[in-house]
Amino acid sequence: MPLNEYRKKRDFRVTSEPSGDGLRRKAKSKPLRYVIQKHRASQLHYDFRLELNGVRLSWAVPKGPSLDPSVKRLAVQVEDHPVEYSDFEGAIPAGEYGGGTVMIWDTGSWVPEIPDVDAALKKGELKFTLRGKKLNGSWVLVRTRGYGRNASKPSWLLIKHRDEYATKDDVTTAQPRSAVSKRMLAEIARDDGGDVDLTEAGDPK
Ligand code: MN
Repeated sequence: MPLNEYRKKRDFRVTSEPSGDGLRRKAKSKPLRYVIQKHRASQLHYDFRLELNGVRLSWAVPKGPSLDPSVKRLAVQVEDHPVEYSDFEGAIPAGEYGGGTVMIWDTGSWVPEIPDVDAALKKGELKFTLRGKKLNGSWVLVRTRGYGRNASKPSWLLIKHRDEYATKDDVTTAQPRSAVSKRMLAEIARDDGGDVDLTEAGDPK
């Protein structure tokens, strides 16, 4: 079961995150979805999730994506998440796994630029196009050696390819609000009973 590790870490009687027990959506000809969730937990990071084979492949990107092709952003692969997780925006109770505030920072569809995604993941180089509200154009995830010999959390680099969407502008500070509710992190924490002071540090000044 690909979601075992995800479920093991959470108490679904306490957190309002989805358990992933719902029926999997059969995505025959529908575009594949992606989401980036800005997550103020013990450390601020951006969770990058690509829909594939009924789950969301997930990477934690500490600094978030960069639109500058000369910048490589560390992306630590974490356990697959349920498809429904992509709709989650709110507070995770303190003391629970990932306790803090989650914002749907960007959402849209993704298109593999290679014929065989599973083979590309195995090889450690996945090229894809994003069609989101904030991110667009061509990107690549490249697995790296050196970091994390621990095979359960392999390190990758998230890099923007050169195209008309590439820019030196910092998209994480220029567009800090939720892609769905337009709220800042601190507003989500306030609305959902989370820790506003802790969360505020994740919003740009
Ligand atoms: Mn996270």
